[in-house]
Order: sequence, then structure tokens, then C-alpha cells
Amino acid sequence: MQPAVFLDRDGTIIEERGYIDRLELVELFPFTIDAIRLLNRAGYATVVITNQGGIGRGIIDEAFLHQVHETLDARLAAGHARIDRYYFCPHHPDAVIPGLRQKCGCRKPAAGMIEQACREMSLDPRRSVTIGDRRLDVVCGNAAGTRAILVRTGHGAHEEAMPPGTARPDVILNNLMEAVGWILRTSSR
Ligand SMILES: [Mg+2]
Ligand SMILES: [Zn+2]
Repeated sequence: MQPAVFLDRDGTIIEERGYIDRLELVELFPFTIDAIRLLNRAGYATVVITNQGGIGRGIIDEAFLHQVHETLDARLAAGHARIDRYYFCPHHPDAVIPGLRQKCGCRKPAAGMIEQACREMSLDPRRSVTIGDRRLDVVCGNAAGTRAILVRTGHGAHEEAMPPGTARPDVILNNLMEAVGWILRTSSR
């Protein structure tokens, strides 16, 4: 089984822009391509785990979400970096699309997306790390049995100042690149 890094999308690998409903809003952080390429070369599966309740709410559709991810893939590929797979939760408690208004097991902080990825991609959660800018990303990673890093980009600095609730980050760092450095230093593989 392979180790993985489970990456939140908005605020972690791209700028937090609320619901991304135009491709012009997709903006990678300056360090994103280098950070993901380092993970690729170190042998980690790179898996995006993203809540996309905007689908359930009718703000974007699934075809557009795939366009966003293709845009991301193209920019990463230009820098020889790659996301291995994207998992998204289309559900939302206030969804207007029939069938998507439900309490699902995939919307973070639930661990369903990571668990599904581990099954489908033969990943070892105990050697894996979850990175996100929200406490709910950390709770999700904790619940799935991975280590978890809160980054201060996106909502992260604000979230750091809030009561931790049940989130137990292994470490809080400034951004994705620092998180990758921490992973490469602390992993015995
Ligand atoms: Mg986020
Ligand atoms: Zn869901």
C-alpha cells in the first residue's frame, strides 16, 4: 500500500475565492506546483479531497467542476507536477438539486472521501497525511487515521485563532510548501 497526501483544494492548493464558478477564479499559490511535484517525486499519491456543495446548491454543475480540475491539471503539468485523483462531495444540507440534499458520509469533516480513496487506490492511511486550511479538514484526516496539518493560507489563519473543537492537527504551518517540507522530514519510509 502506498502513502498519500490528501489535499484540500480551496485555500490549500488554490486561492480561496468562495464558490469558484468561473475558470478565471482558479489561481494556484506560487508554491503549489513545486510542492506537489516534491510529493510526486517522493512517492506519495496526491489526492484532492474537496467539499463541492455548490453542486447541490445549483451554483455550479459537475461538468464545470471537471473543467476546473482540468484547468488545474494543465497548470500543474506545465510544471511537471500532478494530482493523481480528485474526490468531491456534491451534497449540501441546503441543496436544491434532487438527491443531493442529504446527510452523506462524504462531506468533510466526515472521512468518507479519504476512506473511499484508500480502498480504490490501495493507500495506507497510517502513512498518509491530510492538509487543509479548515478545522474540518483536520477532523476528517484525524477520523481517517492520517496525520493532519492545518495551513494558515485561505481560512487557516482565522481558523487557527478559533477554538480547536475536536480537531487535532499534528502541526500548524504557514502554507502547503512548509507542510510538504514537514512531511518529507518526518516520514520514515
Ligand atoms: Mg479549504
Ligand atoms: Zn457527500
